[in-house]
Amino acid sequence: MDIHEYQAKEILARFGVAVPQGALAYSPEQAAYRARELGGDRWIVKAQVHAGGRGKAGGVKLCESEHEILDSASDMFGQKLVTHQTGPEGKGVYRVYVEGAVAFNREIYLGFVLDRTSQRVMIVASSQGGMEIEEISAQRPESIVRSTVEPAVGLQDFQAREIAFALGIPAKLMQQMTRTLQGCYRAFTELDATMVEINPLVITADDRVLALDAKMTFDGNAVFRHPHIAELRDKSQEDPRESRAADRGLNYIGLTGNIGCIVNGAGLAMATMDTIKLAGGEPANFLDIGGGATPERVAKAFRLVMSDDNVQAILVNIFAGINRCDWVAEGVVQALKANPVDVPVIVRLAGTNVEEGQKILAKSGLPIIRANSLIEAAERAVTAWKNDVAQNTKMRAV
Ligand code: GDP
Ligand code: MN
Repeated sequence: MDIHEYQAKEILARFGVAVPQGALAYSPEQAAYRARELGGDRWIVKAQVHAGGRGKAGGVKLCESEHEILDSASDMFGQKLVTHQTGPEGKGVYRVYVEGAVAFNREIYLGFVLDRTSQRVMIVASSQGGMEIEEISAQRPESIVRSTVEPAVGLQDFQAREIAFALGIPAKLMQQMTRTLQGCYRAFTELDATMVEINPLVITADDRVLALDAKMTFDGNAVFRHPHIAELRDKSQEDPRESRAADRGLNYIGLTGNIGCIVNGAGLAMATMDTIKLAGGEPANFLDIGGGATPERVAKAFRLVMSDDNVQAILVNIFAGINRCDWVAEGVVQALKANPVDVPVIVRLAGTNVEEGQKILAKSGLPIIRANSLIEAAERAVTAWKNDVAQNTKMRAV
């Protein structure tokens, strides 16, 4: 789960990381008012979206008057900001953050990530901050410092100093730097984060170590332990298909293909997507409806998959272990009768009571295409999709 920059800064500040003075605004007028409250004569107006790369995309503006703040904020509000991290559809800007501008001498990159190989928190830092980490690793790989933290003892001061020395931090700033590293590490572990990134962490002209940007991502499976984090969820920043699914307790990831998938079990869902690709198609989504494929859940899944305009065929692939194929078949039939769909539907059932399930599908009178194996199902889905598209194109031409 992602949160906004201003929220990450607020959290990190509580853990002792120094951040600039700032204030949130929901309109250009409020942004100007906030700047006046903050005082000073130079401000940074920053679009709050769940993505980095805002600077290059016009989402971070230096302003020197109230007029400029109104102008910059007006440009940002209501826009879909497209950065290299948002995808082509961009992310809506509904909040901006206003900060007093800071003069700095150096930009440092600082990231805390989960390193799956060592199964530890890894600190990644570079003296070449300001650029994206991908860019740094392509252009200045030698500047990157990596250090894993021994979980039994946590981040030790000597280790934090080692990182600081490797970054060339002068001795007089050592304490501020270790405090920053310790704060990030504690926030990461205590709040079940999966990523903390400060880019840039700067050394200001008046010798302060200051986080000018902050990004935090949390483990979605652990946010229930942190209600104050859970409430930071901002649905305006999520793929609407995915937030609808999350609200319904379905595991859904939207993709860009045309074949919608309704599957029980994450492993089977992955295998189904692979097989669709193997058969020459592209999946429109990953969808795991979970163990209990009840008629209600199946119906919800159909509605969700059909809400994606790109879907031109639906493949239902259910393996009934604890479940029963006849129940699932009943669910599919009920769902399709209640909400008829205008695309081909391919159903593959396997497991307990499969014969009864097939009979229910056959007797339903619905134009369901049945398949026995996964590869057969995927091939039939791809063929049905291609035929259907060809037919619709012909119909449009007539
Ligand atoms: P991102 O592009 O989404 O990562 O947004 P950032 O918050 O990192 O802002 C982009 C760039 O704007 C930073 O790399 C800085 O160089 C610059 N910037 C941000 N805040 C300030 C500030 O207070 N003063 C100055 N001079 N530059 C800033
Ligand atoms: Mn940044």
